[in-house]
Amino acid sequence: MTDPDTRWVDLHLHTNFSDGADAPKAVAERAASLGVSAIAITDHDTLGGLPEAQAACAVHGIEFLPGVEISSHIGTQELHILGLGVDPANAALGDRLIQMAEVRLDRARTMAAKLNKLGVPVDVAAIEARVHGGVLGRMHLAQAVVELGHAATVQDAFDKYLKTGRPAYVARESISARDAVDAIHAAGGLAFVAHPGIGRIDSRFDVLLDLPFDGIEVFHSKHTADQQKRYAALIENRGLLASGGSDCHGGIKGDPLLMGTVRTPYEVYARIRGRLTGTCSSARS
Ligand code: MN
Ligand code: MN
Ligand code: MN
Repeated sequence: MTDPDTRWVDLHLHTNFSDGADAPKAVAERAASLGVSAIAITDHDTLGGLPEAQAACAVHGIEFLPGVEISSHIGTQELHILGLGVDPANAALGDRLIQMAEVRLDRARTMAAKLNKLGVPVDVAAIEARVHGGVLGRMHLAQAVVELGHAATVQDAFDKYLKTGRPAYVARESISARDAVDAIHAAGGLAFVAHPGIGRIDSRFDVLLDLPFDGIEVFHSKHTADQQKRYAALIENRGLLASGGSDCHGGIKGDPLLMGTVRTPYEVYARIRGRLTGTCSSARS
């Protein structure tokens, strides 16, 4: 009898190129110290952190999958889509994400203006100067609100000002799920429905899976054992791939570090890798 394969991977990680706390290099170092075999960096709407992460993974001897988490919508519902195996140098995807960053920056400026009117003197230009990758979001505004002493924590800033329905909130525009999936495919990647257990996305699978998704994020730090089981059965039925990861942001919201709390089996990564290179066989057959 051979020993069971205990290797594990984390294919959903954020860095400070989006809303994570740590530089890509530090994220790769933490992964290596936890004994992860492969990681994907999946920052929101940017490919900016990928080269640094790739180099750091090479140093630490862990396998690396370039990724992105795109904020899209389907109808009126927000939908996060993971692109795994995208070419970090793909110009069409890169340009699309830069356009989205500009829209996001406009939104941040509008929210900052609202905060200013509410007596919170956030300076959006100063925040912009500190943000890597151009992905300025509500998280950065929330941090500024805390620094100015108008909220105790980032969560408190969201609750007081920035979450849906609060006075500095501005609805966000995003690309359609179909466009996001197509952009990921055009960049050589595979498209996955991210964390379907969050936000009742899993009640929309009938509509979602009409889109050419390659798979579903089955393993996730916020999924219950029951959800994980249901999604695993669904992909089996539909002939889709699984993916999985912690969605660790490095403790930026005062959360515990999520990396290592969900251990996606190495085989999940091997199947994705096999589909990307067109070598591995379908482990399904
Ligand atoms: Mn995030
Ligand atoms: Mn997400
Ligand atoms: Mn995420």
